[in-house]
Amino acid sequence: MLRQRTLKKIVKTTGIGLHSGTKVELSLRPAAVDTGIVFRRIDQAEPVDLPLRADAVGDTRMATTLQKGDVRVSTVEHLLSACAGLGIDNLYVDVTAEEIPIMDGSAATFVFLLQSAGVEEQDALKKFIRVKKMVEVRDSDRGGEKWARVDPYFGFKMSYSIDFAHPAIDATGQVVEIDFADVSYVKDVARARTFGFMHDAEALRAMGLGRGGSLDNAIVLDEYRILNHDGLRYEDEFVRHKALDAIGDLYALGHPLIGAYSAHRSGHAVNNALIRKLIDDSEAWEIVTFSDESVAPRGFVRAHHEALAAL
Ligand SMILES: [Zn+2]
Repeated sequence: MLRQRTLKKIVKTTGIGLHSGTKVELSLRPAAVDTGIVFRRIDQAEPVDLPLRADAVGDTRMATTLQKGDVRVSTVEHLLSACAGLGIDNLYVDVTAEEIPIMDGSAATFVFLLQSAGVEEQDALKKFIRVKKMVEVRDSDRGGEKWARVDPYFGFKMSYSIDFAHPAIDATGQVVEIDFADVSYVKDVARARTFGFMHDAEALRAMGLGRGGSLDNAIVLDEYRILNHDGLRYEDEFVRHKALDAIGDLYALGHPLIGAYSAHRSGHAVNNALIRKLIDDSEAWEIVTFSDESVAPRGFVRAHHEALAAL
């Protein structure tokens, strides 16, 4: 059977916030069955819990942010992507600042952290959200059309395209298609880093964003080329990172998605609008569980065993 999962023990790390530039301590702690993923600001007078839910996502400018009153936790998408990739259902995420540390700009450090804690199977069936009909969100902006949709599909696959008029990005490909029946999240997605342009850095800083950004935690581009001396980790690392982000954004549903996700230039805002529209339409989805692995989607079963074996 496919069971819910948490961690075997507490793990901790320290890093800096990409946007704030300040130091953040992060602890990941095991949580009971059906807890979901709960972010906790432990630097407040009284700790404040921010449970992960589609409608708890507030500001989506440059990152996915959970908000409760004045208390926020932002840049949650890379950690959530790692949790989705390793199938972690129940987890407490304690942080000492309003941002999850950026680490190396990918999900690889979080994957390593989760794996070093060890994945614990729990005494309850894992819940999945199965898409029953197509749901789509379109958003026209000055730069053109953005959209994202989910369709029924027995497994999880994604198709993502970007459209950057930049020679270095164009040379690496602007489309990625991944079917997790055959592809390993840990090997083929988790290491893709976020990216940014030198000419945006100043404007972002004026908005109070991007202060912690550097060549250590992002691919940085000038008008023509990549400035990182070591080059890229994947041939199509730019668009692959967008897929990594989308996996994290979709995980705000609270459960893994059984369906096909496709998107064009969809950022955190469009992804969040998509999952809210899906959740609001009770005919578009259902919760399913698998007491018999042999009838579960192949990719989920393989990823399940991979995560448990990675210790
Ligand atoms: Zn990202």
